Amino acid sequence: MNQCPVCKKNISNAENGLCNKCGWDMHYYANGLTRNEEMRFKKKLKIARRNWKKLVLSIKENRALKKTLEATQ
Ligand SMILES: [Zn+2]
Repeated sequence: MNQCPVCKKNISNAENGLCNKCGWDMHYYANGLTRNEEMRFKKKLKIARRNWKKLVLSIKENRALKKTLEATQ
């Protein structure tokens, strides 16, 4: 089974080669990469992972904040 390298979602049924959770392009794995492309790929993956972590964290914070607000009402 394939797993998204960014959000770790199981993407065995990815649409059009894209992760349907975070939008990562899975075509990178299908094609052979040159050295330059591989460097670019690794850099892009690093950024995408960082952004994904931030997104997940902000969603969690949002939920916690909502709960706190609801509790004080
Ligand atoms: Zn993903």
